[in-house]
Amino acid sequence: MKEIFRDPDSAKVSLCQSIVESAGIRTHLRNEFLSAAEVVIPVFYPALCVVDPDDYQRAVDVLKEHFEADQERAQLPDIACPECSEENPATFDICWSCEAALVEEVT
Ligand SMILES: [Zn+2]
Repeated sequence: MKEIFRDPDSAKVSLCQSIVESAGIRTHLRNEFLSAAEVVIPVFYPALCVVDPDDYQRAVDVLKEHFEADQERAQLPDIACPECSEENPATFDICWSCEAALVEEVT
């Protein structure tokens, strides 16, 4: 077992877990039962671990790629909705106004 990510926000840790697991890597959450409000010592923050230490580098790469892709999208200009012409942030997949799909599935 090797820890790859630790954060007081368990929602963020869960998100990272689902990203890593979607790449076919087995993971384990430590301290997930503690709520952030009760945790003042970083050592008890929720932590995401890989079960097999050999997967560690791949898991880190998967997370890095995911968040870099997010960042790139965040820097893109607003997207005008093809249906109603409202401006939407580039990170939105669906128009906030009419719920039309804004972007093709990114592969
Ligand atoms: Zn729209």
